[in-house]
Amino acid sequence: SEELLHQQDKLAAVGQLAAGVAHEIRNPLTSMKGYTEFLQLDEKDPTRLEYLDIILDEIDRVNQIVEEFLVLAKPQSVKLETKNIVPIIQNVLSLMEFDARKKKVNFYFENMYDFIFVRCDENRLKQVFLNFVKNGIEAMPNGGHIKVTTELREGEVQISFEDTGVGIPPDRLKKLGEPFYTTKETGNGLGLMVSFKIIESHQGRIVVESEVNKGTAFNILLPLETA
Ligand code: ADP
Ligand code: MG
Repeated sequence: SEELLHQQDKLAAVGQLAAGVAHEIRNPLTSMKGYTEFLQLDEKDPTRLEYLDIILDEIDRVNQIVEEFLVLAKPQSVKLETKNIVPIIQNVLSLMEFDARKKKVNFYFENMYDFIFVRCDENRLKQVFLNFVKNGIEAMPNGGHIKVTTELREGEVQISFEDTGVGIPPDRLKKLGEPFYTTKETGNGLGLMVSFKIIESHQGRIVVESEVNKGTAFNILLPLETA
């Protein structure tokens, strides 16, 4: 029956996801095991601090994967409250300022409003903004600009994150948000999946515009709170 088919689809999707998670977690585990064995062999190895750094990085990687999945596992725990999103955006930008400057990336925040009220889960929304800013920086290996703009429309606000980076070829746009889709050596391809889910749970949507070698814009549309 149709219901059964639907269930089988779901099971197939879960299987794919599980295979992806297992793969992503096995790589850092394998490397941690290897470096730990090195350390066991020679306790006076002069490179032991380097090995320990690698191990800590790999632990962070596994942790991040688990964190991202927790968001998916508990969509019901999204707590919506009325918040002014202007300081939330400012906060994310100042959080990333140092990292950006090191990479020759400048931020521009074009916003005419003191208050933009949205029903949201502040921490989750922060996570989305952070993901877009990070992706923007990573798309500009030689530096560039990230412009964040706010625009009020009928009943909604558009928050755009525009970079002057490498861009995304048209045939790759549909891959965005697929779990584990990444073009980066140390990427995990979970940031966009999680971001799309979070915005969905806020009754919003995301529109992506991109041009290869020109840049990319991630436009978030969220319903305005009209109290
Ligand atoms: P990750 O950053 O770990 O690769 P994401 O889910 O955040 O995972 O992004 C998935 C992929 O989407 C990236 O690897 C990259 O190919 C593409 N992408 C995301 N944001 C941008 C951007 N601003 N410019 C160009 N490509 C991007
Ligand atoms: Mg990312």
